[in-house]
Amino acid sequence: MKHKNLIGLNPTELEQLMVEMGESRFRADQLLDWIYKKRVSGFDDMTNISKAFRNKLKENFSIGTVSLEKLVSSQDNFTHKFLFRLTDGLCIESVFMIENKRRTVCLSSQVGCALNCDFCATGKMGFKRNLEVAEIVDQLLFISRYFDEDLTNVVIMGMGEPFLNYENVLNACDIISNDRCFAIGKRKITISTSGIIPAIKQFADEDRKYKLAISLNSADNDIRSLLMPVNNKYPVRELINAARYYFNKTRRRVTFEYVLIRGLNDRRMDAEALQKLIHDLPCKINIIPYNETDENYRQSAENAIDDFIQPFLNMNVVISVRRSRGVDINAACGQLSYGVVGKGISETVL
Ligand code: SF4
Repeated sequence: MKHKNLIGLNPTELEQLMVEMGESRFRADQLLDWIYKKRVSGFDDMTNISKAFRNKLKENFSIGTVSLEKLVSSQDNFTHKFLFRLTDGLCIESVFMIENKRRTVCLSSQVGCALNCDFCATGKMGFKRNLEVAEIVDQLLFISRYFDEDLTNVVIMGMGEPFLNYENVLNACDIISNDRCFAIGKRKITISTSGIIPAIKQFADEDRKYKLAISLNSADNDIRSLLMPVNNKYPVRELINAARYYFNKTRRRVTFEYVLIRGLNDRRMDAEALQKLIHDLPCKINIIPYNETDENYRQSAENAIDDFIQPFLNMNVVISVRRSRGVDINAACGQLSYGVVGKGISETVL
């Protein structure tokens, strides 16, 4: 019989389970403490729980769902890419980044991705399936256990489109932010979407407190469709209207991610088109120089990056340039699965 995983249960569900098993609710507190605070990986380590109950737990449940297939660390040791194998044999990747006191994990939400963005290595894999709640949370749990570190930030920006696995991703975020689990603040958790408009509106209507990022990449409808076929379904103007709807509803700024690609979307005219598009929308813009995984695209020149941001400096937007971490191990944005395609295992070497 397949063991049920305790990781995908929120504290209330875990309490209910304990009651169904004839135990007190307090048992859930003990389990949560062992799993998320003391970070044990097996029931045998839970020494304040009776042996008889531990055996009962072992017979019916597990507390982990991913296993480590490969770990590659960058030369500076600040970025670590995990290749995890799931119980059905498929693989996903997660990235752990260290920056001063910040400990950030980038999580996957699906195995592969159906959206086929032209600049993205994951898109080339095609879509395999959605991740379960337990599989999303367990990426984080595994990494916090592995490094024995409290994690401070989470970005759901790894493999997959999180808003096409909406319920599982949000349920996982609710566990991650819960004080009895990881207790990571909701504003420290960012969900990044390629622009699934109905889900953006749902996210706004439900007033979820997590941060929202939208992968924009061009203000020009044709260029965006070329880069991101999802734009054919959800065109850029409607997407900006959805972002405006989100702001009006929540008063929180959206972050627009903009991967800067040489000669394609990094010209002054591209910056001005973007400026026009978002001129009345308080927002943040995160410029990400392209990480070269595809021979069709090149990273922008340094002076083009500086030039691009000029029009925004006098606007009501926060603009930043993100220097990607982990480029040497293909752990940077848009590089996940690079080296995995067709093989199942990354052969990335330092
Ligand atoms: S960029 Fe994101 S949405 Fe686009 S193919 Fe890659 S994983 Fe999917």
